[in-house]
Amino acid sequence: MAGDVRQINRRRVLEVLLAHLDEGVTQPAIEEATRLSRSSVSAILRDLQPVMRPENGSIPLAPSRGGRPARLFHLSEDFGAIGIEFGRTHVRVGVQRLTGQEPDEGEILSRENLDIDVPREPDPALDLAAELVDSLLSRPRAPSAIAGVCIALAAPVNTDGRVRMGPFQAWSDLDLGSELVERLGHGMRSSPKTPRVLIDNDANLALRAELRWGAARGVANAIYLKWSAGIGAASCVNGVVIRGHGGVGGEIGHTKVSDAGTDAKCEWCHRHCLESVASLGALGVSAAELAAIAIDSSHPQRARIEREVEDAAALVGSTLAATVNALNPRLVIVGGLCPELFPDAALGPLRSTIEGSVFPPIARDMRICPSIQKRGSGLVGTFATVIDELVPDYLLSVAENRAFAGL
Ligand SMILES: [Zn+2]
Repeated sequence: MAGDVRQINRRRVLEVLLAHLDEGVTQPAIEEATRLSRSSVSAILRDLQPVMRPENGSIPLAPSRGGRPARLFHLSEDFGAIGIEFGRTHVRVGVQRLTGQEPDEGEILSRENLDIDVPREPDPALDLAAELVDSLLSRPRAPSAIAGVCIALAAPVNTDGRVRMGPFQAWSDLDLGSELVERLGHGMRSSPKTPRVLIDNDANLALRAELRWGAARGVANAIYLKWSAGIGAASCVNGVVIRGHGGVGGEIGHTKVSDAGTDAKCEWCHRHCLESVASLGALGVSAAELAAIAIDSSHPQRARIEREVEDAAALVGSTLAATVNALNPRLVIVGGLCPELFPDAALGPLRSTIEGSVFPPIARDMRICPSIQKRGSGLVGTFATVIDELVPDYLLSVAENRAFAGL
């Protein structure tokens, strides 16, 4: 029982340290945030020493009013995270040290418009991801130990990390965590323990990126809409990103659209769903073609695409309105290629349809804004997820093991 309380208190102190990754935090500030006594915090900081920056002459001190400046405590930057995003035609990876900042360009490698058919060919896609991660791990500033790995897939992902529906069905029998750890080289083997691997849908992860570093910072109730080759939504309710019973909540793209007026049927849900009439595929162009049309105002397909994006936006908005009414969000963030490349055609009709469809008090208190995180938002979200979900347990376990080993 006493051990449980101590472990809970260690986690509380660790959470304060994680909230001040870059600037550090003084012991009195930890005592205030955790409401623990000075002696308890002192003992816990000693327990956590194996995962803290070493005390030496270069430690920055916090200014204080009179008396000695207080020491600032920081978690060690030796630990880091691996993030991987598999899209339909791209693989992006990142290796980041444990910091409070989102990953920068130097920590990410991207391969776009691949010859590999990623959804149907998991083996070469996993090989490529491992190769890119290895190359990042061999860079001089790479972390020496990996605290967690998170994989973003452009597909519905169940809570057990398996894909049961959608374009990535060839990945359904894979234990992605094991497949990846097996392929990774020296960087993972030097970690004091094998890191856990989380897998989630890219819209859920993009929302986590917005919550930590983007438009939803400080917002407890938010919805993220991803509108690209697929259409999906992710929701944060009272500060918790929700996935639902099976983990696939938010798949609004597969909502049946009754007035579709088309023969288009979804390959996955076999209905006239929103995705079959309003996604990038329904526009009849590839991602690369849409990008080319977006920057060429005299492109022969420009007027058609703008008109179709406007029509599609009204359909997406009326479908999303049901989720908005159910959850009463403060913020709706609109992300994905369609609104990113055609913001005027997408955002106006989307906004007016949602605002005109939902309960008026919900519309009055709600803001609809474009995503701050652009392409790569699922990847950025993998780092936010590792920090939130995997780092605390990992660091507690490393601190315990090292203390036990007398290190
Ligand atoms: Zn469908």
